[in-house]
Amino acid sequence: FFDSLTEQKPDPLLELIAKFAADPRPGKIDLGVGVYRDETGRTPVMKAVKAAEHHLWETQQSKSYIGPEGDPVFLRTLASEVFGERRGGKPVAGIQTPGGTGALRLAAELLALDKRRKIWIGTPTWVNHQAIFASVGLQIATYRFFDIEKQTVLVDEMLTTLRNAAPGDAVLLQTSCHNPTGAALSQQNWRDIADIIAAKGLIPLFDNAYQGLGRGRVEDAAGMIDVIETVAEAMVAVSCSKSFSLYRERTGAAYLFGDRQASLNKAIGNLASYARTSYSMPPAHGAAIVAATLEDPSLHRTWVDELSEMRTRIVEIRLAAAEAFGQFRPELANIGSQEGMFSLLPISPENVRQLRSEHGIYMPDSGRINVAGMRVRDIASVAERIGPYLT
Ligand code: PMP
Repeated sequence: FFDSLTEQKPDPLLELIAKFAADPRPGKIDLGVGVYRDETGRTPVMKAVKAAEHHLWETQQSKSYIGPEGDPVFLRTLASEVFGERRGGKPVAGIQTPGGTGALRLAAELLALDKRRKIWIGTPTWVNHQAIFASVGLQIATYRFFDIEKQTVLVDEMLTTLRNAAPGDAVLLQTSCHNPTGAALSQQNWRDIADIIAAKGLIPLFDNAYQGLGRGRVEDAAGMIDVIETVAEAMVAVSCSKSFSLYRERTGAAYLFGDRQASLNKAIGNLASYARTSYSMPPAHGAAIVAATLEDPSLHRTWVDELSEMRTRIVEIRLAAAEAFGQFRPELANIGSQEGMFSLLPISPENVRQLRSEHGIYMPDSGRINVAGMRVRDIASVAERIGPYLT
């Protein structure tokens, strides 16, 4: 049986990591990896996380099961942090999940219950999105989101496409720090999106994986909250992987917003039953860290400061990169007003490969770069090397 199976292609990003590791050149640079890096190239454990882990080690009395919905303290504290006090007093219910991916997968399972439903996904997007929704048999429709050559969001095209969606269809939206483009929507854009979603009876599913790494913790969620306040029902997949640097701890949550608490609880019960038949219950450690951090005012302050430091570094890199890359292509000055870790360069896959072999600069074929993969002092020379390969 095993031998009869189809060979699966390895994840291109993991392949890239292996190639990078095997490259002996000292000046090599990895812009492919999807994690935050500090100026020394490391992805450190946050101080607040270390302190919370220490506290847990001292106080945790049991590792008995907690149940498919996860830790209620984690869900409550994370909801306050992510959504704040606004959201029009709308009822909310949540379930802890293994990372943001786990939340997206549970949401996908629920949406796929109606076989007529499509999910509308902007392109380009995170490589795993289409695969997650396709794996539950959900119909996928796309709208163009970003013009790589012009480095601008195609808002009008997006709005026109969404006006043609059928009532009951879902729309996938990235809350902030768009992966892979870094493109940001204005508050007016979000209001227009909210109005269309409300008027057409669509269901927004927010992928919230980078809150705090764009303009700020509160600012990054403002558009999402506008939409939640305007529409009848909304779903949100939250990832703590980047904002708490908890990647491998698999920490996240799915939240549902609606008009009636009873309906939300029923929907969460459905999500919990999918969890029960796949991984049973979510891993506890990362969520316990997040809960301990958010509950304790001093740990919370430490975490906020560390997150701000990460954001400040990203902004600093972006401003320098905008100047350096803008000399080769004026449109790339937009890197400075884009947000989060990623930007998408106008470069062909052949040139990406050539850049890799000739200069040891690594990025996926799409041309997505993680700006946090650069040290500030290297930006000008990285841009000099990439510039001639741009289309
Ligand atoms: N959504 C987006 C846009 C992402 O970039 C990622 C991580 N690369 C995720 C979701 C999933 O994050 P997690 O590791 O928490 O599953």
